[in-house]
Amino acid sequence: MAAAAAGSGSLSSLRLRLSSRLALVTGGGSGIGRAVCQRFAEEGSAVVVVDVDESSAEETLRSLPHGDQRHSVFVADVSCPQSVHSLVSAVQQFSRPPCVAVNCAGITMDGLLLKMEAEAFERVLKVNLMGTFLVIQAVARALIGSGAKRGSIVNLGSIVGKVGNVGQTNYTASKAGVVALTKSSAKELARFGIRCNAIVPGFIDTRMAAKVPPKVLDKVLQLVPMGRLGDASEVASVCAFLASDDSSYITGASVEVTGGLFM
Ligand code: NAP
Repeated sequence: MAAAAAGSGSLSSLRLRLSSRLALVTGGGSGIGRAVCQRFAEEGSAVVVVDVDESSAEETLRSLPHGDQRHSVFVADVSCPQSVHSLVSAVQQFSRPPCVAVNCAGITMDGLLLKMEAEAFERVLKVNLMGTFLVIQAVARALIGSGAKRGSIVNLGSIVGKVGNVGQTNYTASKAGVVALTKSSAKELARFGIRCNAIVPGFIDTRMAAKVPPKVLDKVLQLVPMGRLGDASEVASVCAFLASDDSSYITGASVEVTGGLFM
């Protein structure tokens, strides 16, 4: 996407804002999570690529500068408390507590309200909302326990969490919850030097958006003032800003990355 490539900026002109950071990125095997891993590695961070699917996480690792010398892969299911606990303990033993965490793991299980099974509602809430809670809690506990004085947590919401969407009662509820969870976490964690912010993307060109029926996507694009889907790299660059000290006085915020959709 030519316009997107131009928007991702010239990295050579940027400082290595994330050097000496260890960043944990869930959902790192695909889409936005993979782009975040790549952007963070380019900005000097060591990256822990986390995904439920090992092979996709390994593929992300191979795409990073300095590959497995500097970065690592961990398999975890964010919806499972034991899995998240083991993940953060293992990362700590292997290295140190991550001072940056980005919660990109997410799923959709779409269906109309009148037809949706309770299991589909529960599963989406468990991965998208409880998974984000579990990672925030485990990383914050590890950081505070280690005496670290700063941290930055970034959570992925969605613009449909603000405006609703037909066929996504489960997903929209989970993403509205992520924004509220981010604000409450920001209030509780500020005194420990840990900032917590959300990114609220519109429609981004990844596997998740590819599941949206073409007819629906065409209609959405007509509503996007910028007239195109976003690129995962355009979300990753905002993540890098929120992870870095360039955003040192920002916490509890939700940054919309939507091309102007539903502003
Ligand atoms: P994606 O390409 O489907 O990536 C999501 C990743 O999360 C996948 O690698 C997936 O692994 C992983 N994952 C799923 N369940 C997991 C679990 N229980 N534990 C650990 N990892 C798990 O989607 P994306 O578009 O990059 O989305 C990233 C985030 O942005 C999501 O939270 C999404 O809701 C949000 N978002 C996306 C858009 C968009 O238009 N793309 C818009 C707004 C918000 P598997 O592939 O193995 O399931």
